[in-house]
Amino acid sequence: MENRERMDVDVLFVGGGAACLSGALHLMKKIAKHNELVESGKVQGETLKDPMIVLLEKGAEIGAHSLSGAVMDPAALKELVPDYEAQGAPIEHIVRKEALYYLTSASRFHSPFIPPPLENRGGLVVSLARFNRWLGGLVAESGCEIFPGFPGVEILYDGNRVIGVRTGDKGVDK
Ligand SMILES: Cc1cc2nc3c(=O)[nH]c(=O)nc-3n(C[C@H](O)[C@H](O)[C@H](O)COP(=O)(O)OP(=O)(O)OC[C@H]3O[C@@H](n4cnc5c(N)ncnc54)[C@H](O)[C@@H]3O)c2cc1C
Repeated sequence: MENRERMDVDVLFVGGGAACLSGALHLMKKIAKHNELVESGKVQGETLKDPMIVLLEKGAEIGAHSLSGAVMDPAALKELVPDYEAQGAPIEHIVRKEALYYLTSASRFHSPFIPPPLENRGGLVVSLARFNRWLGGLVAESGCEIFPGFPGVEILYDGNRVIGVRTGDKGVDK
């Protein structure tokens, strides 16, 4: 058990939810942009060749542990993937009309207005599992290594500095 296999990475994302997937895609896009600017001579510096960017997900596949449906504010998605519709983002519906009701056991009352925190007009209705699976595809295409089925079980420190995670053992007993 002492001689664990070890993989050195440049950047590690733990968890394949919307947050880490977006972070990984954003980073890969920034690296590609940097390399493009350096190669075209517009910026001085070195290109970052074959960076080892890794994302661990404990579920058997990306999206497997993303269980909720969601109404999503599209602002961040528009910045991250401006042509998300053309790229096949799994959007079920766009909220164009909404209503708020107060329900009692026998009746319902239509609210004359919708309080701002509950307003969703323009929001995207998605299945988070399907959405994350789609985003995971873009992340993989960008060159980031995705390892599903690998839970991070322990944070590894060097003094006060986080230096990585230990992944769960596999195949140790039946
Ligand atoms: C019932 C419900 C309804 C919601 N409705 C909405 C909504 O309508 N609109 C909206 O905007 N938001 C909604 N949310 C909130 C939204 O789902 C979260 O804000 C969002 O999913 C957070 O994304 P995340 O990537 O930070 O985390 P998560 O989506 O939780 O993803 C974390 C990922 O990391 C993985 N993981 C966790 N621990 C480890 C580990 N140790 N090692 C490896 N992998 C790990 C998990 O398997 C998971 O895939 C809702 C949430 C819930 C629970």
